[in-house]
Amino acid sequence: MTERLYHGDSYLVDFSARVFAREGDGSRLILDRTAFYPASGGQPCDFGTIEGVQVLNVEEDDEGRIVHSLSAPVAGDTVNCRVDWERRFDHMQQHSGQHLLSAVIVECCGIPTVSFHLGEEFSTIDIATGSLDARVVARIESRANQVIAENRAVTVEYRDPSDQADLRAPSSRQGTLRVVKMEDLDVSACGGTHVHATGEIGCLLVGRLDKMHGNVRIEFVCGSRAVRRARADYDALSRIARTLGTPMAATPDAVTAQQDRLKELEKACRRLAVELAKRRGRELYETAPVTASGLRVHENVIASGSLGDDVRAEAQSFTASPRAVYLAASRDPAAILLAVSADAGLQAGAVLKQALAAAGGRGGGSTGMAQGSVPGAEALDAALAAIRDVVNSVRLT
Ligand SMILES: [Zn+2]
Repeated sequence: MTERLYHGDSYLVDFSARVFAREGDGSRLILDRTAFYPASGGQPCDFGTIEGVQVLNVEEDDEGRIVHSLSAPVAGDTVNCRVDWERRFDHMQQHSGQHLLSAVIVECCGIPTVSFHLGEEFSTIDIATGSLDARVVARIESRANQVIAENRAVTVEYRDPSDQADLRAPSSRQGTLRVVKMEDLDVSACGGTHVHATGEIGCLLVGRLDKMHGNVRIEFVCGSRAVRRARADYDALSRIARTLGTPMAATPDAVTAQQDRLKELEKACRRLAVELAKRRGRELYETAPVTASGLRVHENVIASGSLGDDVRAEAQSFTASPRAVYLAASRDPAAILLAVSADAGLQAGAVLKQALAAAGGRGGGSTGMAQGSVPGAEALDAALAAIRDVVNSVRLT
């Protein structure tokens, strides 16, 4: 078993230790004692250096030994170690912040926390409720920051495992219980590293909420992370405000108004595209030569894209005139549209269906217009050829 110095003093950064064992090429060290926190209980491991060599990972093995993985082998029986304080203090802020947030949620709403995760960017807790109102979230956040300002003491004590009556959540841990207390607010069994007083958490900012397996997942950040997050949010918002040319406070309404206007414009744009397509359909009919079958035939084959409202409008407009056949196709995704005038001597639905069946495609439609898809470009060419044959076989008198 490795002696865990971080349990007694989470502010200990420099220490020396005896090498208890080496693994592999000597880049995995087990020390007699360590201030490096191994990943556990939702808190990631510490980084730092041992004899100036980078510590890449710290984990606890099955025998309760703490294994330090280094970027290179380290020699010597005694080693000088340094914990990366910036990373450690950040973890202390987030972890103490989590105890605070979980305790305040119990205080405000009586909802227990079921899990905690300290991530690279933000931390999360899952709380046992189906939903959480935004006003309640604001109240919880405000209360947490009030407790931070009160700078309440955070202390550690060791207890017999049977002594659990005042714990926020029961612990199933074997052996002596390590208990972290937040003055007049929280008592939790925890092996993590914590600040000495709530003031050191700095501040607590709640982020997004997500429903997750019947619980609500709350994203939060503390201390320097909260300041960085607020700075990034402010910069993003001020960029939006500048783009919109509105004061920052007016951006939500301005964005909603822009969104509404955009929807209206899109609608108008679609309407105009259909209008234009109708006009184009009439013009195409005027210039289309009359074939031997006595029909005016127009083909519109595009390389890619869907045969949408504008193509349909053009086809409809073209075939509103007598003795007209309009054939459109897209090569990717492979699709066909066939429209015929009422007097063309053809039924669009029947002709297309037959051509599609032979080419392994699917689709159908009415006597005037039909649409379908085929598995690929080769099948498309076969289906188009079959339709052209039928169209060319028409003889109108
Ligand atoms: Zn904890």
